[in-house]
Amino acid sequence: MVAQFGSQFSATVAHSAYTGGRWSAGELAPLAEFAMHPAAHVLHYGSTCFEGLKAYRHGDGSVHIFRLDRHVARLANSARLLCLPVPPADQLESMIRGLVETVRDDIPEYPSALYLRPLLFGTDANIGSAARPSNDATLYILASPVGEYFEKGEQALRLWVEDKQMRTSPHFGQVKTGGNYAAALAIVTAAKARYAVDQVLFCPGGDVQETAAANFLLIDDRQVVTKRLDGTILPGVTRASILELAADLGYTVEERDIGLEEVFAWVSQGEAALSGTAAVLTGVGMLLHDNDEHPVNGGQVGPNTIRLRQALMDIHSGRAPDRFGWLSAV
Ligand SMILES: *Cc1c(COP(=O)(O)O)cnc(C)c1O
Repeated sequence: MVAQFGSQFSATVAHSAYTGGRWSAGELAPLAEFAMHPAAHVLHYGSTCFEGLKAYRHGDGSVHIFRLDRHVARLANSARLLCLPVPPADQLESMIRGLVETVRDDIPEYPSALYLRPLLFGTDANIGSAARPSNDATLYILASPVGEYFEKGEQALRLWVEDKQMRTSPHFGQVKTGGNYAAALAIVTAAKARYAVDQVLFCPGGDVQETAAANFLLIDDRQVVTKRLDGTILPGVTRASILELAADLGYTVEERDIGLEEVFAWVSQGEAALSGTAAVLTGVGMLLHDNDEHPVNGGQVGPNTIRLRQALMDIHSGRAPDRFGWLSAV
């Protein structure tokens, strides 16, 4: 039995600091509180981004990180858009690998996994830096053994369809930053309290985007359709992987803008799902909008959702060959 998602940590972290224009060598250290100046840039001006990726233990005991290169590249993109120093890809990769190697005994049996959380933040101690990037920064990598993400397990999710408010500002949707979660939190919290939903699907002005932490896909027997990467949504690695697997299995894959009317028509016949590293691919069973209820696939997780999720999980677990080269052995 693994503790609630994200509440249990390995005893070792990896870290590096950017000062005086260079990154220090990545180091392993015991997980512990650390000191930071109360004027640190991140605390006032939100200069922070993170990643979330997983290492899986296969049946033969070997350990594999899923799409390490993609996550490292995405952290670099987030850092650039936040004007933070960009950790060199080779250094970040070797820090993640080194940490996984060190805590490898913590990795539970599949479908549990080791969740890895790289975290980058600006540390300049200067509250006059509101309109200036942080010169200095710190990079931490946490490791957390995790089990199922959604407490409800296999049950289909209920989503509130928010057609007015945005999750974040449009150009920042592609950045994996705490600020985007902060911007969405009050909206998500109110919807959960009012409508007893699991998540909010953000569709500002009718543009169907994603939830606060997962991408949204429409699925049926022939097709997979999802919002194109236009900067408003996070370029999910799970999203990309499901699209590649779907195309390989013979589905037509479309990345394009989607309107609300199309979604409501789709779900009377087809399926909908959320994708993310934590949740993999989770079926949606109900969309609530205004005073209307739109059941998705009769409220059940659909067969194509299950098929695509299984195809991805078979690669995670090593049951299927790694034909796309997505796994990095540690
Ligand atoms: C992390 C995240 C996702 C999912 O990305 P994955 O790479 O699939 O884990 C989707 N949306 C948002 C807003 C996220 O922060």
